Amino acid sequence: MQNDDLLESAPLTALPSPFPREAFNRAKNVQKLVNLLMHHVGHDLDFISSSLTDVISVDDFTKNLLQVYSDANRIGFSQQLSFGLFRADYMLNLGDSQVKHVETNAIASGFANLGPKTTKLHKHILSKYLPHQVSSIPENNANINFPESFCRAFDSYENPKAILLVVTEDRTINLCDQRGHEFQIGLLRPDIRIVRRPWSQLHDIARFTEDRRFYVEQHEVALVYYRHCYAPSDYFSEKSWSLRLKIETSRAIKCPSIQYHLAGVKKLQQILVDPEVSERFLSRGAVKELAQTYTGLYGLEMSEKGNQALNMAIERPNEFVLKPQREGGGNNLYGSDIVKLLNDIKNSDERKGYILMDMIHTPSIENIIVIPGVPGTICNITSELGIFGSILGSKDEILFNNEDGHVLRSKKVGVNETGISAGFGVMDSPLLY
Ligand code: ADP
Ligand code: MG
Repeated sequence: MQNDDLLESAPLTALPSPFPREAFNRAKNVQKLVNLLMHHVGHDLDFISSSLTDVISVDDFTKNLLQVYSDANRIGFSQQLSFGLFRADYMLNLGDSQVKHVETNAIASGFANLGPKTTKLHKHILSKYLPHQVSSIPENNANINFPESFCRAFDSYENPKAILLVVTEDRTINLCDQRGHEFQIGLLRPDIRIVRRPWSQLHDIARFTEDRRFYVEQHEVALVYYRHCYAPSDYFSEKSWSLRLKIETSRAIKCPSIQYHLAGVKKLQQILVDPEVSERFLSRGAVKELAQTYTGLYGLEMSEKGNQALNMAIERPNEFVLKPQREGGGNNLYGSDIVKLLNDIKNSDERKGYILMDMIHTPSIENIIVIPGVPGTICNITSELGIFGSILGSKDEILFNNEDGHVLRSKKVGVNETGISAGFGVMDSPLLY
């Protein structure tokens, strides 16, 4: 299911939704650590390979991604810099009013443009009806900060004539958000040429020189920005995987590089909740700070621990979410679907491809949902906070590491997921209290 309305306008709440200030600040304050963790994990191929051994025995998509990384490592990376535009997602935990980390998106992190636009709209609405509350909507400059990061990453390629290539779907749904970044980059730096090309077309027009420069038509590519290529169906032939590998080993800077892409795999998130594992990458203090946002995550390996997790999920399915190694929304399992699937696969290796996560129970509030062409409806909704972060660096050097702004996405109570492009959620913004 996809939300075609996003081509013209996004669904949203009429008013901002109350959100505790302390929890909001905590999520913002840990974003640079989230970026750093992704950076260091991404640059540790041995750790990623050993952590994903079980998953790749049953999940061809993750296996192919890892193959791209290890092949590129063997051939040699001709670009040492990786560029990440991340969005770490959190839900408010009903029990202690603190944020709990849902996942960190490493590829095609959406709504850094439409998030701030929603902030602006909500500030405008409150200025008319509740002017004393306007200052409780926090500033949100993700629409400017992400483009500034793009420009800095572009400049580090050191060829002003090269282009920023946006890799798209054949038919882009979340067009306003993507084009918003392009317009802003155009305002900041009219000299940077931006070219959008569908991934499927690149199969025929991508060219690589012997010294591993990446050309699209007559243009050398400085920076590749993937807004696609995170779902198995995006790699529709063997050629898709060899193209991804050629891009990874080219001189172009990638957002994300295969390093960052793999750092976002859910299995790694599950393994990294163990502080002893995370301390391989961050200081003990940093790990402690991040751990305050974590909730329970469990592997389903063929072991006593894995069996315990599996049985717990079958006995109390409403307390968990079951997740495969996928992105983009609509892939998780809930309630009776968890019981059915786990009973089917409990004696098969297939179970190793999933992770189990504690269900985060969030408080609901009343708001008005506005969908283009439909009368506004008053509903009970719950919200999910996304914090944007950008990072550029090589294995040994970080050139910048920023927290860049936020987005609040909300959904009707009873709907399991919040993805807007997937057709579940609506744009919102936090009103801090
Ligand atoms: P995807 O990569 O498909 O976006 P997520 O892990 O973000 O996968 O899950 C999709 C959605 O499912 C989230 O946006 C959230 O609405 C819901 N969800 C995920 N994990 C939990 C959880 N632990 N508790 C409650 N809801 C969750
Ligand atoms: Mg998600």
